[in-house]
Amino acid sequence: MSSFDLVVIGAGPGGYPAAIRAAQLGKRVAIVEQEAFGGTCLNWGCIPTKTLIASGDLYHRATHAAALGVNAAGVTFDYARMVARKNEIVSRLAKGVQMLLQANGVTLISGRARFVDAHHLAVQAADGSVQHLESANVIIATGSVSAMPGFLPNHPRVLDSRSFLDRTALPASLVILGGGIIGCEFACLAAQLGVRVTVVEMLEDIVMALDPDVRRLLKRRMGLLGITVLTGAPLTGIAADDTQVTGRYKDQAVSGDLLLAAVGRQPNTIGLDLARAGIACDERGQIPVDAAGRTCVASIFAVGDVIAGSTQLAHAATAQGVAAAAQIAGLDTPRETVIPACIFTTPEIGAVGLNETQAKAEGRTVKVGIFPFTALGKALAAGETDGFVKWIADAATDCLLGAVAIGAHATELIAEAALAVRSGTTAAELGRAIHAHPTFSEAWMEAAHTIHGTCLHLPPRKR
Ligand SMILES: Cc1cc2nc3c(=O)[nH]c(=O)nc-3n(C[C@H](O)[C@H](O)[C@H](O)COP(=O)(O)OP(=O)(O)OC[C@H]3O[C@@H](n4cnc5c(N)ncnc54)[C@H](O)[C@@H]3O)c2cc1C
Repeated sequence: MSSFDLVVIGAGPGGYPAAIRAAQLGKRVAIVEQEAFGGTCLNWGCIPTKTLIASGDLYHRATHAAALGVNAAGVTFDYARMVARKNEIVSRLAKGVQMLLQANGVTLISGRARFVDAHHLAVQAADGSVQHLESANVIIATGSVSAMPGFLPNHPRVLDSRSFLDRTALPASLVILGGGIIGCEFACLAAQLGVRVTVVEMLEDIVMALDPDVRRLLKRRMGLLGITVLTGAPLTGIAADDTQVTGRYKDQAVSGDLLLAAVGRQPNTIGLDLARAGIACDERGQIPVDAAGRTCVASIFAVGDVIAGSTQLAHAATAQGVAAAAQIAGLDTPRETVIPACIFTTPEIGAVGLNETQAKAEGRTVKVGIFPFTALGKALAAGETDGFVKWIADAATDCLLGAVAIGAHATELIAEAALAVRSGTTAAELGRAIHAHPTFSEAWMEAAHTIHGTCLHLPPRKR
């Protein structure tokens, strides 16, 4: 039996960075992966979607380039080539992950792990052979899979995000069940490439985690892409046959060539035999952990999508994995709590900290500073005036509590806001920091000034 200081189960963005960091800190580490190194993020999540979105975005921009004096008439796309490029990038990055693990002296084990007890694991390889491991510590980083509720027909026209990404042809029409982040990203991608998209969301609105002003702009732009967004009632009576998928939204018939289910993620805990290690999951199948990522068993940590209350973001999983590895090595590294979130819709959205709705719901007295891209020189120059940034600051201390950006480059812009929120920067300090001109990032400076009524590039507010 092989013996380690740490065995990590799952080589996604939670698991593989944890393994590397523990090895850097001098631990003897093994990582077990049942499928593909890089996990959901690299193989069926962040990277493949953003690669296809980059292609879709380029095509869309080319077909709308006339306003900038560029005549790209007759531009076409080859979706199979886009998918092939996506596969090449995924494969290159997955090899890179394995190379990094090996270079750090981590033992790579392919197979499905389950607990025998808190310090022993059995790993079954694809050929059925079983390897036994002993470890002082374990990090569970087994992630999640798409939830496919029982009311969905088991039919090739009904897909989850992973199987959609494997297709080399686009449908003419697509029904997307769920108007959350994943549903809206796929909706924009498909619509940009000419697919007729209908999104059905049973909640009162799409991406409810966002403030209403952000959602309004997103929905308006999705409408311009030709996406039909139906909210506030479920899609019922879903059926699939050889030609289409059908359902009903209120009194309306809804149909598409394919249905993409984007109704949430389900933790990967089945088959881990957690009870043998002394760990019980919560009612959603997720693993409860303390602030350090430790389960109820002191030597076992859990990180990423599999934990209770997970943000289901790759960079959050990585931060948790690295923090757990440090704990195991005896370092008391505090866990980062400021986690930016990016949504790769058209337009992009970046958010961090408290939004306006949350801050007010918490009973905080806040000041809000908004700067629209219509007043931003660089946005006009780029032909990207649909968007804005917004700060939420504590009215008493002026501390920046949160921010959101919607519009061009919002997913890059949010990094500055995240650093400001994390470091407890005030709106006054942020406004004093010189931002280069002409850039989109100037919007943060302008919005910070707006909080104090000192914005130079917006007319004064009427008293
Ligand atoms: C379509 C889509 C788009 C996304 N886009 C983004 C994005 O743009 N940005 C972002 O931050 N997040 C995005 N996410 C979310 C992100 O992918 C996840 O939050 C992230 O992958 C979670 O990392 P993880 O390490 O916890 O789990 P995973 O990445 O799911 O990795 C878990 C790994 O564990 C393995 N495993 C499971 N059980 C066992 C076992 N018993 N034995 C051995 N191995 C096992 C699995 O095979 C898997 O490789 C997206 C997700 C999806 C589905």
